[in-house]
Amino acid sequence: PRVSSIQSNLEELGSLIPSFQVLINLQHECLRANELDEEDYDKIKPILIQKELECQNVYFTYDPKVSTYALQNINIQIPANQMTAIVGPSGAGKSTLVDLLMGLNRPEKGSVLIDGTPLTKDNMLSLRRSISYVSQDPFLFNGSIRENLLLVTPNASEEQLWEALEFAASSDFVRKLPNGLDTIIGDRGIRLSGGERQRIVLARAILRKPSILVLDEATSALDSENESKIQAALDGLKGTMTIIVIAHRLSTIRNANQVIVLENGRVAQFGGFMQLTEDHGGLFSNLLQKQMKAAL
Ligand code: ADP
Ligand code: MG
Repeated sequence: PRVSSIQSNLEELGSLIPSFQVLINLQHECLRANELDEEDYDKIKPILIQKELECQNVYFTYDPKVSTYALQNINIQIPANQMTAIVGPSGAGKSTLVDLLMGLNRPEKGSVLIDGTPLTKDNMLSLRRSISYVSQDPFLFNGSIRENLLLVTPNASEEQLWEALEFAASSDFVRKLPNGLDTIIGDRGIRLSGGERQRIVLARAILRKPSILVLDEATSALDSENESKIQAALDGLKGTMTIIVIAHRLSTIRNANQVIVLENGRVAQFGGFMQLTEDHGGLFSNLLQKQMKAAL
């Protein structure tokens, strides 16, 4: 019988999994509560955000003993089925904020709300079930590309696999590999570049058909050609799912419906991409100018 639980998949894969940390990363990626078995997991209803995901007066600290906050006084709304970008310098709190929105971090003060209802243990699991989350460090194990894609959605059809690869600008390069989808990647097989790995993980994330897609610098290793392909694919998803993108390269988020600019754990600016661009002297236009200079 097909073993569909990730937990048992991982056990079955056993020695192929290089380290415990990787296991944690994968659980993080598909946000599957590790304490749940498959049956309980399937009973959880995915949540559909009707209106918005919201932070009200949220404070968060990694070290409650000292009074330094990684996030302070955060008041934001993430509207359903729109694309929201989070930008800001490294260390500003972008990843911490998405962890809070996904219920992976708990606020010290304030609350995270789904359509006005505070995030609790119960709706948090529903929320996670609805999210695909791609982090900066993509996790792929030494196995075939097909096995890597099927890890989270074991019943996906051949056609769905190629659709997902197409979305992630990967179908061309996978088709050219010696054994296509069955090409082994990793130590025992072909070494993929950082950008190729990120694209395969993106394909896996989209294969789950999430209602919320969270990308945390998930395209950082892509060249600009492939990144603009992904950008176009994301634009095509607009209106069908809630998309939260953290991107270092600001061109990636050009078409976001709204942009949250973080600095030192606070919301420094908030608005549309063009609106922020025209706010001369603001942090966003400074970041944009720095990137344009660096690109010359
Ligand atoms: P960004 O994603 O914008 O680069 P992060 O959210 O990762 O920023 O980090 C915000 C702040 O919190 C930084 O000062 C960082 O050093 C700190 N931080 C992040 N993760 C942890 C952690 N697990 N433990 C302690 N401090 C952390
Ligand atoms: Mg980060």
